Order: sequence, then C-alpha cells, then structure tokens
Amino acid sequence: METLRCPFDQARLSAGDRTIRCTQCERNFPIVDGIPSFVVPELASIHEQEEWLRKQSEMQARDVQARQYDHLLGLALLSPLERHWTLRALQGTAGHFGVLAEVGCGTGRMLQHFASVADVVIGVDFSLESLRLCRQRMESVGAWSRTLLLHADACLLPLPDAVLDAVASCQLVEHLPSDRLRNQVLGEIARVLNRGGRYVVSGYHWSLLTRWSGGKQGMHRGGIYYYRFTREEFHALVSASLPVERLQSVFGYVWLAAGSKEV
Ligand SMILES: [Zn+2]
Repeated sequence: METLRCPFDQARLSAGDRTIRCTQCERNFPIVDGIPSFVVPELASIHEQEEWLRKQSEMQARDVQARQYDHLLGLALLSPLERHWTLRALQGTAGHFGVLAEVGCGTGRMLQHFASVADVVIGVDFSLESLRLCRQRMESVGAWSRTLLLHADACLLPLPDAVLDAVASCQLVEHLPSDRLRNQVLGEIARVLNRGGRYVVSGYHWSLLTRWSGGKQGMHRGGIYYYRFTREEFHALVSASLPVERLQSVFGYVWLAAGSKEV
C-alpha cells in the first residue's frame, strides 16, 4: 500500500480483504487474482469521448487476443533484438535498479527480462487477461515474489511521485489515440521517476520498412489503433517530458528513446 496511490487524487490507499479503498475520495478498487484493479468506469471522465471509445476497443481486443499475442510472427522474430537494445538503452551506465516499472507490460514479453536488471518490478497494463498471463509467466521464471502487477490506465498511474529507479514502456505510445494522451503518458512516466532515474520508451517507426505494411496511422485487427512516428515526432513527444540522451531505430521497426530524469 505504501507504493500505491489513488489514480484520481493521489491520496493514500487502505487495504481491505478484496478491495483497496481511497482514504480521500473513498473509491473502492477491487483486487482480482492478486492484481489491484484501477480500471473503473469513472476513467471515462478524464478522456474525450472518441479517445475513450478507442481505448475501450483496444482493451477488449487485448483481452481477446492475449493468448495469441506471444505467437505473432513479426514479434517473435524481432523480440530478441528489441530486448537486447531496450535493456542496453535503459541501463546506460547504471547496472542494476531497485524498483523498475513497465508501463504497458501486456503478457510480460519484456517484463520477465526487466526482472533480471531490477530487485522489484511493477507491471502496469489495462488488459486484465494479459496481466493474468503475465502473472503465470513471472511465476514460471521464478520472479513473481518480487513482481507487482497493476491493472490501470497508463494515463493515470496509481503511483506516487518520484518513487521509481527506472521506467520502461515498450510499444505502448503508438496505440494511444491522440497527441494529448501520448503526452499524458510521457508526463506520468516522468512524474513517477526518481530524480536521475532511467527510462526507455519505444514506439512504431514510420520507415521505408513499415510503409509496406499499412499507413502512418490505422487500425490493427480487432480494433487496435496505431500511429507510426517520424524521428522528429518521436523526439518531440519524449523530449517534452524527459531529456532524450539517445534515440535510435531498431531496424526501422521501432524507435527507442532513453535517458535519465534531471537530477
Ligand atoms: Zn481517491
């Protein structure tokens, strides 16, 4: 409970048997399969209607597709490369982290590897089905005892300011349906990071390679919105919230931006 806050007003929470209660607004948040759930209907009120419809559409698609996600061919081929470059960019000259969070952890494709560079990992996602699979994965790699999974909206993290040593977000920002929400997520990542804390953020690259497989923005199967960034767009997005020390493309597939929050 010490590491959690109400996502709506940042007040402290008190733990009950199966729910968590905000000490200020008195909202109740259920705990489902050991996962605190902050995805409540009131979230609609912080979004524009169109944004919220698209996010809900993605949430449903992610729940339905959770089991197939890890078997997507492109992802299976590119994951080892992406993992290598992501960990390298995140670590910089730092070796190991105390508490690391991944915003948009999905089924734990990357989170299991982040667990090898941090004492404690926090995985945040808004698909409960994906988090259930993520829990199984963290159990199978022996890291569940030092993992906290949170069912929450990346735009409103249930975490206090400046508590994390590292934050990663892999291929989340491209699925946010507006500039406003992309900036809000980057703002949240910056808010929860400690001074001097490390971050890495990746998102789709609008490159010669990806031009062959769809438009600059569009919809994936099942109603998942995506946006592909030029270098300038991706740099502008991240640097509005955090200093960009490094910006690289992983084979024209995703951009990786990394750096440290100002001390
Ligand atoms: Zn509250």
